[in-house]
Amino acid sequence: MLIVSEETCKEVVGRSDAFTAVEAVFAAMASGDAYNFPVIREAIGHVDALYGFKGGFDRAGLTLGVKAGGYWPGNLKNGLINHQSSVFLFDPDTGQLSALVGGNYLTAVRTAASSAISIAHLARPDAKVLGMVGAGHQAGFQLRAAAEQRDFEKVVAWNFHPDMLPTLGKIAQEIGLPFEAVEREQLGAEADVIISITSAHEALMMKDWVKPGTHLACMGTDTKGKQEMDLELIAAATLFTDEVAQSTTIGETQHAIAAGLIDESDITPIGAVINKTHKGRTSPDEITLFDGTGVGLQDLAVASVAARIAEQQGKAQVIDL
Ligand code: NAD
Repeated sequence: MLIVSEETCKEVVGRSDAFTAVEAVFAAMASGDAYNFPVIREAIGHVDALYGFKGGFDRAGLTLGVKAGGYWPGNLKNGLINHQSSVFLFDPDTGQLSALVGGNYLTAVRTAASSAISIAHLARPDAKVLGMVGAGHQAGFQLRAAAEQRDFEKVVAWNFHPDMLPTLGKIAQEIGLPFEAVEREQLGAEADVIISITSAHEALMMKDWVKPGTHLACMGTDTKGKQEMDLELIAAATLFTDEVAQSTTIGETQHAIAAGLIDESDITPIGAVINKTHKGRTSPDEITLFDGTGVGLQDLAVASVAARIAEQQGKAQVIDL
């Protein structure tokens, strides 16, 4: 069995590895070759922690396993990030544990890959301005991955806690993009692509603020009750997601579904666009919206890449169980 540390994951899994692995598993999900198991998420009644499991099996990539972890809100004051997770991979032929892989960096890189994939397949080719709603731990990863998908000329950003924006601004500077902190109305008026990655529980972006032709990657809503987008915006957009069942229950479309504004059949898995069984964007004026809810198979896909490359490069610890 292999053990792959957080540090090794950072060394061996880059953004393009994550993009390729996540794109392949989204395609496998849409063609029925891969499926996610029901998610377990529990408030454990200790230090306000949420803990759970996300698992699945990819018959095409032969990846079987589970990500275990959750959210410990008091961690930051102890110098740890609040989201903590580990991935367990199993040999699908024997059921033996094959790898234990650190899941924290991989969660960020696979989540950024997800929105980047949506931009690659759905944003207008001539998109020039990237709008960032959110500036927390994930936002920097999102910005770096998105910036590689189009010839962006500028980043406009808004955050609920404005003091967090300079950190995101530094990342934009590192990748050579001018950065401007703006109000949300201006962000909507300027941005061709908008990424939202916050823990908001109410609409942050309104339909009237968003230009025709915008692509939105809504990445923050991954739990019942969370919300980032106005219901009218959801109803007006052409909707895509990683997994329809998650989108309608814990993702960004949950509220529009509950209000009867849209139907499950209005939402297309992004894998269908990747597989070319759905045409994706059909006009330059269409608003496309990708609801990235985060599925276990994404975690397994990148963990499997980490285990393979770490083993090849002699960077994995090998132990007998
Ligand atoms: P973080 O704690 O580092 O940052 C939180 C962000 O939300 C900050 O930008 C903060 O200013 C903002 N925020 C907090 N309260 C807010 C409010 N009331 N209104 C608007 N914004 C508010 O968290 P993070 O690790 O960057 O994660 C951000 C979000 O992304 C979380 O909701 C997390 O659960 C979610 N997430 C989703 C996936 C996925 O696959 N879709 C993966 C990882 C994280």
